[in-house]
Amino acid sequence: MSHYRTFTAHDAVAYAQQFGGLADPASLVEAQEVGDGNLNLVFKIFDTQGVSRIIVKQALPYVRCVGESWPLTLDRARLEAQTLVEHYKHCPQHTVKIQHYDAELAVMVMEDLSSHRIWRGELISGVYYPQAASQLGEYLAQTLFHTSDFYLHPHEKKAQVARFINPEMCEITEDLFFNDPYQIHERNNYPAELEPEVAALRDDAQLKTAVAALKHRFFSHAEALLHGDIHSGSIFVADGSLKAIDAEFGYFGPVGFDVGTAIGNLLLNYCGLPGQLGIREAASGRDQRLADIVELWNTFAERFQWLAREKTRDAALAFPGYASEFLKKVWADAIGFAGTELIRRSVGLSHVADIDTIQDKEMKLSCLRHAIELGKALIVLAPRIDSADELVARVRQYG
Ligand code: ADP
Ligand code: MG
Ligand code: MG
Ligand code: MG
Repeated sequence: MSHYRTFTAHDAVAYAQQFGGLADPASLVEAQEVGDGNLNLVFKIFDTQGVSRIIVKQALPYVRCVGESWPLTLDRARLEAQTLVEHYKHCPQHTVKIQHYDAELAVMVMEDLSSHRIWRGELISGVYYPQAASQLGEYLAQTLFHTSDFYLHPHEKKAQVARFINPEMCEITEDLFFNDPYQIHERNNYPAELEPEVAALRDDAQLKTAVAALKHRFFSHAEALLHGDIHSGSIFVADGSLKAIDAEFGYFGPVGFDVGTAIGNLLLNYCGLPGQLGIREAASGRDQRLADIVELWNTFAERFQWLAREKTRDAALAFPGYASEFLKKVWADAIGFAGTELIRRSVGLSHVADIDTIQDKEMKLSCLRHAIELGKALIVLAPRIDSADELVARVRQYG
């Protein structure tokens, strides 16, 4: 018998008092629901001074932005909490701290990051965090290396893969990234003016073959414990600080998926900036985004190679040069997955504010077309884009 019930603000305060691990739990008096995501309830818990002290997040048994007609597993709260706990072990400086979780209530209590801002909003308004890209590269290298076969004992790795089976959340990704935009589907969401571009996606055999290969890797390559949803809305930043949150899509998948999601969201921002800031004002932000992508990849690859040299436990995988061969495949995957992110965020169910909030209709259409064309090019050209500099050159070539 499950004890699940949807929390009221009052429940959230009581829960935080009991499980928040604070020295002065009685000072917690009030909760405000601040969830702006698509899926869950997020309560900020305030003390008598009106200071937000801790966060209570609860999964709902359905997709919040759609309603009860789309039921969704509560097990995602366990997967989110356990993924973040695992990532925190390997990269505490860039992972939100989970204080407590309860699988039956599908609830977790976590560190309050109100001193930080969601990176997406900052990227849109042109506030630059010069360390964010390298810190994200560091987070990805530490979490993905330490949950891979380079580092885990083979028995431990297999036990972990089983613990992080996440079929329902994976199915959402499988559908939204790799199916919906390439077929007629009621979940798709794009302006009628884009019908020619979207019809062209459905008719492009070369593109659909490459997308099939990416989906196949998402299904079958249990390389490391991914965050699974590491877009700029799942990342908090402050001066010199970066923290990942919201890992309910965590599962063992291809390393390039996390790297590609991160790169894809920087590229979505790149595509939207002219609509947000004006064409002239956007230029320097766009240069920063491309520099961010190079920095993210270089930090990730250098740190991963260093970890592989210092800490690989498997004798065969430790062979000099193997880690860099592996990273070539990760790079090609990442470019392809970044392309699918550009397309699904333009055509599919779930959009990004970087483009969606553009007021001028013609400008918004032009940014959406740009994202679709760039996404297509990346998916098809991925095997031939063999360095971060080459990626930058290709992106500039597409506008
Ligand atoms: P969802 O899974 O529904 O997308 P998120 O974990 O992304 O939920 O949280 C939604 C919003 O709640 C975030 O954009 C942020 O505004 C707020 N939030 C989430 N976690 C925290 C936290 N640890 N500290 C402060 N605010 C948070
Ligand atoms: Mg979220
Ligand atoms: Mg899967
Ligand atoms: Mg989420």
